[in-house]
Amino acid sequence: MLPCIGQEEARIERDKALVRFENVTFEYIRRDEEGNVDSITTALDDLSLHIKKGEFVAILGSNGSGKSTFARHINALLKPTEGKVLIAGMDTGDDDKVLDIRQHAGMVFQNPDNQIIAETIEEDVAFGPENMGVPTAEMRQRVDDALKRVGLYKKRLASPNRLSGGQKQKVAIAGILAMKPECIIFDEPTAMLDPSGRRMIVETAQKLNKKDGITIILITHNMEETVGADRIIVLEKGQIVMEGTPRQVFSKGDRLKELGMELPVVTELAQRIGLSGCVLTREEFVDAYKKALR
Ligand code: ADP
Ligand code: MG
Repeated sequence: MLPCIGQEEARIERDKALVRFENVTFEYIRRDEEGNVDSITTALDDLSLHIKKGEFVAILGSNGSGKSTFARHINALLKPTEGKVLIAGMDTGDDDKVLDIRQHAGMVFQNPDNQIIAETIEEDVAFGPENMGVPTAEMRQRVDDALKRVGLYKKRLASPNRLSGGQKQKVAIAGILAMKPECIIFDEPTAMLDPSGRRMIVETAQKLNKKDGITIILITHNMEETVGADRIIVLEKGQIVMEGTPRQVFSKGDRLKELGMELPVVTELAQRIGLSGCVLTREEFVDAYKKALR
């Protein structure tokens, strides 16, 4: 039987997705000294989702909900116990594709210090493309371009160790940009930064998305960082429990709180003083407040 038009369109959309999780289950298996299974933790539980090229998706969820395990599947650091992960159509279970997948999807981790390896900023940024076998002339171009995009070109010969946490994260981002990725996954990149470092990283991620069309997957505990996302996905026990635009998700404050999360500060404040609508930014707060005064 031929599929009806709607189904066919849905299938084409799904196949075009840059990131595809199809019924992914992942189990961490702990063994004792004799190799017998000690415990099994199901960190992802029959998870299916699609992320389109160019999307900015924020991932929320309490500690242990499976966010990092999810992130590590996108660049094949982990492989599903069951189900499939496809990145730009490539199966992460296919060993021949792993390097190609890592080039498509780079990852920025929480601790900037663990990601710095070289003596100078530019050497650090060159590390990834060097390992990919990029020719020298092109490499120079890529490194310079990546450093300019994160605003560290002038410091390229300095030691990365003297930088602030936020700037170190920018070096890590530049190292990924030099590999010309389609997608960058940020796993709580701001957790160890001060407010100005946090702002710097979130603004960089937004710029890379809007200006360069890079798909961004941002895992965070900070609700304010998610209000500009195209979509928010909330995980709990390795499953999707909420999904939608920031306004859709944050208008269900009670549900979020049940799941161990807060609302953005302005959203919470607006609700407490009884402003109508779901306020997400300071500007919206001011508008709603003025309206209420009228
Ligand atoms: P999150 O990033 O949302 O905090 P994780 O993906 O790190 O969640 O963890 C999901 C679940 O898997 C948790 O129950 C956690 O304890 C467990 N887990 C994570 N890493 C390991 C590991 N290396 N070995 C065993 N269990 C793990
Ligand atoms: Mg984590």
